[in-house]
Amino acid sequence: MTDAILVINAGSSSLKFAGYAANGGREPVLLAAGKAEAIRTAPRFVVKDKDGATVTEDHWRDGTELSHSDCLAHLLDWMATNAADVRIQAVGHRIAHGGADFRQAVRIEDDVMRRLEALIPLAPLHQPHNLAPVQALADRLGDVPQVACFDTSFHADKPEVAAMFALPREMTERGVRRYGFHGLSYEYISRELPRYAPEASKVVVAHLGSGASMCAIRDGRSVDSTMGFTAVDGLPMGTRTGALDPGVVLYCLQELGMDAAAIEDLLYRRSGLLGVSGISNDMRRLLDSDDPHAAQAVDLFVYHVARNVGALAVAMGGLDALVFTAGIGENAAPVRAAVAEWVAWLGLAFDADANAAGGPRISTDGSRVSAWVIPTDEERMIARHTARVLGLDGGAR
Ligand code: ADP
Repeated sequence: MTDAILVINAGSSSLKFAGYAANGGREPVLLAAGKAEAIRTAPRFVVKDKDGATVTEDHWRDGTELSHSDCLAHLLDWMATNAADVRIQAVGHRIAHGGADFRQAVRIEDDVMRRLEALIPLAPLHQPHNLAPVQALADRLGDVPQVACFDTSFHADKPEVAAMFALPREMTERGVRRYGFHGLSYEYISRELPRYAPEASKVVVAHLGSGASMCAIRDGRSVDSTMGFTAVDGLPMGTRTGALDPGVVLYCLQELGMDAAAIEDLLYRRSGLLGVSGISNDMRRLLDSDDPHAAQAVDLFVYHVARNVGALAVAMGGLDALVFTAGIGENAAPVRAAVAEWVAWLGLAFDADANAAGGPRISTDGSRVSAWVIPTDEERMIARHTARVLGLDGGAR
């Protein structure tokens, strides 16, 4: 029997999972990983082994709608048949928001669950989906411990000046502050980076996926990030606006007669790359398109990434390294090249050949600011936290 930590990363239309052997105090060992995607439209279930080779691929008919609970049932049934020697020892979940209360990963007891549900208004697009599998797994697995790992934790100690809005104090005291997200990704990258750039102390990491944000990391700690109170702030994203003059929201309410639901739809689902291009939220499609609106969407995205490199360098008093990660950051060489062109004056001498080859180093040897492509691994970070919280790591820190 192999005891395993099951990692669950549930989004609105997908459920990613991975299994790790806890490995008694050493680094968790990946056993298999996969995802159920397009779960509400045309579900597909894929499992890959530790080397990335596909071992199972199941499809459902177009129009099939699966819940998170259906997907988990499918996963557990798959395990019973294909991994009968694996026993789930613990489950680690990616949870978007820990609010002001949860500054570190925590075991999910009943009262914790209630407090996490109370944070749903702060992350309406993510938190309900993140929490849905917790109950479904409790129903199937009984007392197997479950751990919440937060996207906000890595940012919890950032300076107050980076955390406050210029709002009346009572609003700040209610918790209306800049939390920051993608923390599991940033934490993973900040642990990896010393292997590549051991001297780098002032680092900007650009996590550019469907959701996108950037973080200023000084000596391994987050000092600021582009996302704020919710995950709609900062960079333009696949379908989200990013930072927006709040006057636009008032205009929508007062002049256009939009209600809260319509505005939420506008901010989260109809804007960003999709809204500007009118074509797609998918960076690959935009880079392949000849449409000038697609080019404009890419330019706008690149511009905001570059502008935030400057802003985040100010937060650290300088810049030693710039790291690109997540779907766009890891794969879209033209986006990296365009960002590098904007920020060359900061001391980044870009290596176009290395960039086209995918890195990892994409700056020249003599560049004062180094630039890197480093794949992120949020699931591994969740496995590490889960092992630590439950003491499955033999007390290793
Ligand atoms: P998430 O996990 O937030 O759903 P990902 O990190 O997988 O998102 O990133 C998805 C984004 O990455 C999409 O915009 C997709 O187009 C982009 N992407 C993935 N592969 C490539 C590629 N080869 N070239 C350009 N963009 C890519």
